[in-house]
Amino acid sequence: MAVKEKAKRTEKRKRKPKILAVINDACTGCASSPICITECPVDNCMYEVENPDAPAFNRVFVDPLLCIGCKKCITKGPMDTFLEGCPWDAIDMIPLGEYEEEHGALPY
Ligand code: SF4
Ligand code: SF4
Repeated sequence: MAVKEKAKRTEKRKRKPKILAVINDACTGCASSPICITECPVDNCMYEVENPDAPAFNRVFVDPLLCIGCKKCITKGPMDTFLEGCPWDAIDMIPLGEYEEEHGALPY
């Protein structure tokens, strides 16, 4: 890999994030042009998977071990300002503790 390319990549974070992005059932897959993936700064963190409820459409999955909790994939910023992320409110930002209670501790 070229040095320049490598420098641009966000590799594994140095500490645990406080919040994680989790895709909810409102995800439509954006007709295979997911806006959220273009906004995410971490390589391979968000990717398309099959939607078992609608096999003709994909939906997006967030790798919880790669997500840095930056919120770039969502639309709502602080003070209700709008960002460029998911237009369908299909991404929840979940506190890490809550996520781990439900899914088990993440092996960082
Ligand atoms: S919160 Fe940031 S790192 Fe996590 S999925 Fe969204 S854009 Fe990617
Ligand atoms: S999370 Fe939102 S932006 Fe991303 S594919 Fe689903 S509906 Fe589209």
